[in-house]
Amino acid sequence: MLAAETLSKRDIRKLKAEELKKFFIDHGDKPFRATQVDEWLWKKSAKSFDQMTNLSVATRALLKEHFVINHIHVDKMQRSADGTIKNAVKLHDGLIVESVLIPAEKRITACVSSQVGCSLACKFCATAKLKRQRNLSSDEIYDQVVAIKEQAELFFNRPLTNIVFMGMGEPLLNYSNVTAAIEKITSQKGLGMAMKRITVSTVGIAKMIVKMADDDVKFNLAVSLHDAIDETRSSIMPINDSNPLSELGAALRYWYQKTKRKVTYEYVVWKGINDTEEHVRALLKFCKIIPSKVNLIEYNPIGDGEFRQAADEVLNMYMDLLERNGITTRIRKSRGKDIDAACGQLANK
Ligand code: SAH
Repeated sequence: MLAAETLSKRDIRKLKAEELKKFFIDHGDKPFRATQVDEWLWKKSAKSFDQMTNLSVATRALLKEHFVINHIHVDKMQRSADGTIKNAVKLHDGLIVESVLIPAEKRITACVSSQVGCSLACKFCATAKLKRQRNLSSDEIYDQVVAIKEQAELFFNRPLTNIVFMGMGEPLLNYSNVTAAIEKITSQKGLGMAMKRITVSTVGIAKMIVKMADDDVKFNLAVSLHDAIDETRSSIMPINDSNPLSELGAALRYWYQKTKRKVTYEYVVWKGINDTEEHVRALLKFCKIIPSKVNLIEYNPIGDGEFRQAADEVLNMYMDLLERNGITTRIRKSRGKDIDAACGQLANK
């Protein structure tokens, strides 16, 4: 009974400002209530109508009668020995995604999901094994950021400083919801965070990179490259078959022409896959297409034993050759590995 009732009510956050104003007028109240409610819903991230204490009890009851707030719930929280927090986030329809808080000396980063599961089938990634179930709504993306912002304040007494779209899913296959969420996150009516603190990571869908450039987006772009030779890249990332490196390179050139902004390449070095100088040279050549930097990510095993991280000497070879040629290169150690919160481990357990 209650559940059916809840299902029939509209999610108040799906209403346009004008619709909410009209709702209040139709119910004999003042239109500016809509502004108050909007502030509660976004800026103050209210999770219930009862939190809206500057509204009368009668107004709150009216809202409860007509609407629900379909915010996410942190269903389970795990803390790593290194401070990383992994959240299993329950959506209003019961599906689960994961989001991660990553503390560092100078920053606290939220790593958020954009889809339930993923359709890309990268061979080395745990999320790929889940298949894509649906896109997240912009509210569900926003709420993950809010949840982590609250945890940053509660557990670290520090503000959330950065957001990376490196959780589950491919953000550019859910582009309109991702950009709508980012708009709210950066708006003064939302969380007021700076665009330059936000990074969207993509498997490298060329036509979407072109679209982002045309849309003149202001957030940062990261591309999961992992190899710069088509044959190898296709063997580990099936998307490369329909979206080869030549197209990716052309899209990136367009991106740089339009935005004048660097790209970051994410790259894992695996034993027997891309651990020879030929692969480093190919990467170096790809890096020359537009100004870029490289993050060499530590591989996080996903339990099938098929992929293994290359030896440190190989990483050093990458580092030396790239740096000597003017490409800023960093080795990124994993965080939250003990709780399966590291890159590519989401949904492992
Ligand atoms: N679909 C987007 C967002 C996911 S980001 C993208 O592909 O960029 C997750 C990052 O972790 C990607 O760079 C991905 O290639 C990388 N990754 C996936 N599985 C991994 C693993 N097992 N170990 C280390 N990195 C992994």
